[in-house]
Amino acid sequence: METKSVRLPVAVADGLDQDYARQYHEDFVKRWDELIDWNKRAQGEGAFFIERLLRDGACRVFDASTGSGFHAAQLCAAGFDVVACDGSPTMVRCADANFKRRGLNIPLHCYDWRELDPRLLGTFDAVLCLGSSFCHLFDGGERIDVLRQFRQLLKPGGTLLIDQRNFQAILAGHFSSSGRYYYCGKGVSVSLGELNPSLCEFVYTFADGACYRLRVFPILPSQLRQELAAAGFSVTGSWGDFASVYDPLRADFIIHQATPA
Ligand code: SAM
Repeated sequence: METKSVRLPVAVADGLDQDYARQYHEDFVKRWDELIDWNKRAQGEGAFFIERLLRDGACRVFDASTGSGFHAAQLCAAGFDVVACDGSPTMVRCADANFKRRGLNIPLHCYDWRELDPRLLGTFDAVLCLGSSFCHLFDGGERIDVLRQFRQLLKPGGTLLIDQRNFQAILAGHFSSSGRYYYCGKGVSVSLGELNPSLCEFVYTFADGACYRLRVFPILPSQLRQELAAAGFSVTGSWGDFASVYDPLRADFIIHQATPA
């Protein structure tokens, strides 16, 4: 008997996936801090970013994807001069509420990365794009343009710190979400939905059954390094889960540090 192989359609990103602001809708953002758990996340990262910034003598820091404001708040409390920004109005409202609750006076903007302009914002010793945010851009050319925008915000010799989930491991079938570093919330599980080389869907399921999804582009660490080079950066360091020696197929998150070449 002849057997026919069935080719399943491969999901690709559509306009809705590319609309990150739509993905961070009110209901999901209301639960963002429950998902990340600020205290446990702070314990997981320790002083990693503070130490990197201090080592580079950074003082003025731009948090380009602040989300609910976790890193901006941490760095402001540590004495850095922080400006926070995000393109999602819902996230910006959440960050604003968090800063007010903590009595932190952090300038906060709602700009898409493609609109960032040093004439409006000034220049910085460091730009941060953390929490696996950059993968919201699906198009390689657009990612390089955004990296150039980040570069324009940097003073000479400034530092870009950018992290991503480890999509190399994920695409190789090693997805893990240890709950130790970024998404630390108790009673929230993170699993994978659709996965292929051009789309990765994360499914966040809360203890009460509420379920939210984020659909992103699974950018590989090597690809990000190439795009950083194409945007005029040299990569000065890479870490897996905050360690300089790591297993590239086991770490949950990969962090890159880069400086204008
Ligand atoms: N950094 C925060 C954290 O670690 O909790 C938030 C991370 S969240 C996964 C990604 C953030 O990037 C969202 O707040 C989203 O609105 C923002 N973002 C994604 N694409 C963006 C763009 N093109 N311009 C500005 N912000 C963007």
